[in-house]
Amino acid sequence: MKITGLRTTPLLIPYVTAYHMTQGPRTEASVVLVEVETDTGLIGIGESLARPSAALITDALEACADLVIGQNPFAVDAVIEAVYRRLVSVPGADMDRMARLIVAGLDMALWDVAGQAAGQPVHAMMGGAVHSHIQYFAFVDGDSPEAIAEEARRAVDQGIEVIYVKLGRGNEMDVACTAAIRAAIGDKRLRIDANEAWDVMTAIRMIQRLEPYDLEFVEQPVSSRSLDAMRQVKEAVNVPLAADQAIHSPHDVYAYCRAQAADVIVLGPHEAGGLGQLRKAAAVAEAAGVRICIHGATESGITTVANHHAALTFPNIDDGNQIMCRFINDDLISSPDLTLKDGKLPVFDGPGFGIGLDRDAIARAQERIR
Ligand SMILES: [Mg+2]
Repeated sequence: MKITGLRTTPLLIPYVTAYHMTQGPRTEASVVLVEVETDTGLIGIGESLARPSAALITDALEACADLVIGQNPFAVDAVIEAVYRRLVSVPGADMDRMARLIVAGLDMALWDVAGQAAGQPVHAMMGGAVHSHIQYFAFVDGDSPEAIAEEARRAVDQGIEVIYVKLGRGNEMDVACTAAIRAAIGDKRLRIDANEAWDVMTAIRMIQRLEPYDLEFVEQPVSSRSLDAMRQVKEAVNVPLAADQAIHSPHDVYAYCRAQAADVIVLGPHEAGGLGQLRKAAAVAEAAGVRICIHGATESGITTVANHHAALTFPNIDDGNQIMCRFINDDLISSPDLTLKDGKLPVFDGPGFGIGLDRDAIARAQERIR
């Protein structure tokens, strides 16, 4: 089997409701659909985030098409490595993280088409599922502590075990939100994500103020640019910390685990550079006795399904992973069903990702770009 074509399509998906984060509100998911065509007629699908722009992603992938077309799609790692090498070989530029973002969709598409050709789900191609399901958390948001707490209460009523909220909205608002959620959810698990909002002293002070609300962990309280800042906070507080924006590569996982700067690693395929690199990162964390929590971004159900297949194969997968479906209005896929039951999704059958694309929804998402 040979790859005969590489197609990229920028798409825009609106959210049902915006969500808040330190860096501003998020109102939509802008992605690039990546399709790999083969001489068998099979087509693999993946997606990259359209950041900083769809044009940057499509131009970069088109500039590497000659490294992809003519190759055997089963050689996933070799093809991705060749494309990655070309993207980072810019003298004087540090393209590592950008190159990972760009190749993520291509990596997914290769896994998908290889699985289809083998007649196997992607998790089977990765060594097989070691879990019967993956559990996800409820990401609650709103304009006031009362509204957020109400949403958290609804999530608990739906059988969700883990509640997650983004802070960094001002110290008093952050404390009020945390207190309101805790009052609403009883003894369910609560995680907060400051998204780098705090400096070291603020982080220590805030985490100490929030500690009475029984936090399972605090995600990326300080800048992702300083491992030392994370370690300093970790040494000063009694609440576990998760590293998110700080972690992209397996090398980052190694550095944070070795320095004991994080208790949990939060990582998704767009930061890692696809499922192959995500798998390696999970293995490094496993060696350190640390969990991987799947990170969700401004993505469609394509990424959710891809993540799910990979997560099923990680022994050290977290039991409260991020899923962004509830924000998406008019998703790109018609199957599999991503409705959570008690916060869980079961093992998906393939072949490949087993994704049914909703071509009408894709046409609408394309139209929004125009
Ligand atoms: Mg985060």
